[in-house]
Amino acid sequence: MADITERKAMEAELRAAQDISTQASRLSAMGALASTIAHELNQPLASATNYLTVSSLMMARGADARPDEITASIDGAAASIGRASEIIRRMRRFTLSGEVSRVPVSLRAIIGRAWATLRTRADAEGVQLVRALDEAVDTVECDPVQIEQVVTNLMKNALDAMTGSAVRRLTLSSRVEGREIRVRVADSGPGLPPDVAANLFEPFRTTKANGTGLGLPICRTMIEAHGGRIWAEDAPGGGAQFVFSLPLDRD
Ligand code: ADP
Repeated sequence: MADITERKAMEAELRAAQDISTQASRLSAMGALASTIAHELNQPLASATNYLTVSSLMMARGADARPDEITASIDGAAASIGRASEIIRRMRRFTLSGEVSRVPVSLRAIIGRAWATLRTRADAEGVQLVRALDEAVDTVECDPVQIEQVVTNLMKNALDAMTGSAVRRLTLSSRVEGREIRVRVADSGPGLPPDVAANLFEPFRTTKANGTGLGLPICRTMIEAHGGRIWAEDAPGGGAQFVFSLPLDRD
């Protein structure tokens, strides 16, 4: 009898501990998502503000005002606000159900868009981009905005890591391995110190003065929601390499 009571008590304790840890990881995932939403909303809302400021300046011209230009500018603001609402709707769906909306998209196009966001900085810092994408498979079923966010985060981290390096090379490659496609983002920076590598994907771990430590947890949340995995390893020529996988044929 005593044995059973003790075992039951231990089981209850274990369950309580698991509940707390599930709640904690859910909370940190929510924190990461909140920061993603803030980050993503910034651009369309800033653009809506610009359109409206321009509209107001055009209206102030009085008799010289061009109604067609004013209408186009207000339409621009409306479209930007529409984009912001779409981001909120998609994120809401994602946080409620953990589900992502998948559409067939070109990986090459996603990588191209991510690179375009960082291009000005990369050029200024003399970073060379090498692309070696698998010719056989380019189309993946995913949420293009989330995967672009993942690639952008990984590329940005790579640029951050290479600021003190003589050789600055960012290599993006993809390869079909079994029933998944793996995307690798490799840099020629100093690599990952073991103490950093141990907790890379935990929220709020950062070695940067202005870092949030949320980039990698956000990436992990998004990749895992797609049924994939993400990890870090040493890059072949030194430096760090982040790899994520996306399943190719989901049942
Ligand atoms: P943040 O970029 O805000 O610090 P992240 O979660 O994206 O947050 O990254 C956490 C930490 O992982 C970084 O502070 C850095 O120490 C390390 N890290 C990430 N990517 C690289 C990389 N490519 N090379 C070396 N260290 C890296």
